[in-house]
Amino acid sequence: TKRFNGKTVIVTGGASGIGEATVIEFAKEGAKVVISDMSDKGQELSDKLNEDGYETFFMKVNVTIEEEVKRLVDETVKKYGSLDVLFANAGIGGMTLVHETDFAEWKKIIDVNLHGVFLCNKYAIAQMLKQETGGAIVNNDSIHGVVGKLGVGAYSAAKGGVKLLTQTESAEYSSKGIRINNVNPGYIDTPLLASMPEEAKQELINLHPIGRLGKAEEVAKAVLFLASDDASFITGASLLVDGGYTAV
Ligand code: NAD
Repeated sequence: TKRFNGKTVIVTGGASGIGEATVIEFAKEGAKVVISDMSDKGQELSDKLNEDGYETFFMKVNVTIEEEVKRLVDETVKKYGSLDVLFANAGIGGMTLVHETDFAEWKKIIDVNLHGVFLCNKYAIAQMLKQETGGAIVNNDSIHGVVGKLGVGAYSAAKGGVKLLTQTESAEYSSKGIRINNVNPGYIDTPLLASMPEEAKQELINLHPIGRLGKAEEVAKAVLFLASDDASFITGASLLVDGGYTAV
């Protein structure tokens, strides 16, 4: 039987990369999936999946705007009756040394990668507490929530914040049947890395003992594991999906 039959799942940043791959995996496993993204590409993905017989719908949401996040959860519950899983995945990159980082750029990265996760968690948790059937949340963190690297100041500050937010939430809500965990991907071959020159990509590959970049589907499978009953005693954890990046 499919692991997410009858479950309702929200994926933020679901129109591209890791989010898109996770939407597809959840749909294949029987979930009703709300694809939320700032980009209208989410509508195309939803239409395509629905043509193939899956149950999805798209909501255009900017995760940094509180009313939009609240509406995302409200509309999801209105349409499907409950919210069982949130994958808080929407995020942006950044690559500047601290002394060259504009304050505006710093704020933007923190806003999407940390404030956006907070808002989505806040409204998902409120709904999960209300419905009394619990739920599971997976936040998309990063190896840079665990270790730093040249140029990732704002990004790692946000992702490190997500790691500790997740741990705190697990203290607050695990006894209420809500498990909250992180995935911490190494470098994954998604549109986020598309603008990177080949040489820089090769340098990144060399940092992964496994000898390649990750695939979006490989992160998606870890997300589904953490969201599933197979992970019923796992909460407050950070699951490295990093090809050994942080092991060496
Ligand atoms: P991506 O750029 O392919 O997809 C990100 C999606 O998020 C896009 O569809 C974008 O429109 C959406 N988005 C951006 N800002 C948003 C906002 N304010 N509101 C709503 N949607 C927004 O990137 P990806 O590589 O799939 O990254 C997804 C997540 O994975 C991010 O949180 C990123 O930090 C994390 N991550 C990525 C890598 C990697 O190497 N690609 C590694 C570790 C962690």
